[in-house]
Amino acid sequence: MRVFKFGGASVKDAEGIKNVYDVLQKVGYEDVLLVVSAMGKTTNALEMVIKNYFENSAELNSSVQEVKKYHNQILLDLFEDDKHEVFTAVQTQFADLEFFLSHNKSPNYNFVYDQVVSYGELISTTILSHFMNFMKIQTQWIDVRNFIKTDSNYRDAEVDWDLTQKNISKNVKRKILNITQGFLGSDENNFTTTLGREGSDYTAAIFAYCLNAESVTIWKDVPGVMNADPRYFEHASLLNQISYREAIELAFYGATVIHPKTLQPLQKKEIPLYVKSFINPLLKGTSVSKGVALEPYLPCFIVKRNQLLISLSSIDFSFIMEENISEIFALFHQFKLKVNLIQNSAISFSVCVEDKFDNFTEMNAILSKKFKVDFSQNVTLYTIRHFNDEAALTVEQGKKVILKQVSTETMQIVTSEN
Ligand code: ADP
Ligand code: ASP
Ligand code: MG
Repeated sequence: MRVFKFGGASVKDAEGIKNVYDVLQKVGYEDVLLVVSAMGKTTNALEMVIKNYFENSAELNSSVQEVKKYHNQILLDLFEDDKHEVFTAVQTQFADLEFFLSHNKSPNYNFVYDQVVSYGELISTTILSHFMNFMKIQTQWIDVRNFIKTDSNYRDAEVDWDLTQKNISKNVKRKILNITQGFLGSDENNFTTTLGREGSDYTAAIFAYCLNAESVTIWKDVPGVMNADPRYFEHASLLNQISYREAIELAFYGATVIHPKTLQPLQKKEIPLYVKSFINPLLKGTSVSKGVALEPYLPCFIVKRNQLLISLSSIDFSFIMEENISEIFALFHQFKLKVNLIQNSAISFSVCVEDKFDNFTEMNAILSKKFKVDFSQNVTLYTIRHFNDEAALTVEQGKKVILKQVSTETMQIVTSEN
């Protein structure tokens, strides 16, 4: 079986959805499972709905209507006849969402987040599945929440591999085009959970692992994995081959083209991951598989914006030792700050972190009781794998470097421009 993942950009409008059909015609859809994300920027729009639900109820209805309007336009562009059953199917999903918003009693933000944001994927897969049937490709729409079981850590749920494996082995039918949602799972009470933003790649890897798939292909608006994000680097080049290890490193440092959790399950079973262009589906793209680390061998640039550089020093000039460090890390873990760089000296300790859940202020109140805390917001972290002098210069030129760290394979530079 092959697993294909189509991300938000690939299904952002009717043209995109028709293009998915074209891609399937070109590369075949026998024995394929499609994992699909929410359309375009729907997840962001639903995040706004959630924010309004908690903080600005006057805007709640209009933010829901906006999401509805966007999907309705796509439906009108895809199906000539608004009597087509897909209109009712999508309306029912919006009605469910509105029912939840008017009846929910839980004050738990993360719980509400997952219940609401999941409609992005539920609706996109409903539309896609109906469209494929309309185009005479028979599909099986599956609710991923009956397959991927997780804990109840809403917004960043951990997969229960045993249960998930059992569900997938028992219930996924082969020989038909299966269509399912990326990013979602469900907990033991069958409440919806999510696997973290951009988690649809990971969903594809989970299915591939449990199905012993032949390969995973993620279809992108770029020719494959490049040595830098082409949005920011003019001369980015395509990487033909990347080993699992190298890809894990790139994803870890923040190459957003692959979600970091995706690679481990694939590597375990040596399932190749292809990253290909949905615009030119017959081109080779990038293969992430067993083999040479990087071909062609080039410096790879990764940019992470909106980072927070925190420097901690002891109030009384005592050393920052293991016990302090473990305490500091326990706090980072508790407040879900992702550490991207660590630099340590006798009496100070610097970290570059990402505060995805806006928890820094709360954590800082605790930290400041024991340490002198200095921090700079909105710094940018550049990572260069396989750096050379020229690559370092490209990054540093015209910027204010506030921290630099070099190891054999990797150079990291924190700058204060954004
Ligand atoms: P999806 O729709 O699948 O979620 P994403 O937007 O997450 O797609 O990923 C594709 C984008 O990733 C590209 O448009 C590109 O700007 C960005 N990107 C970041 N780093 C790289 C890289 N090293 N190679 C290719 N694309 C990259
Ligand atoms: N729709 C989700 C997001 O935008 C998951 C994904 O696209 O991978 O984060
Ligand atoms: Mg993505």
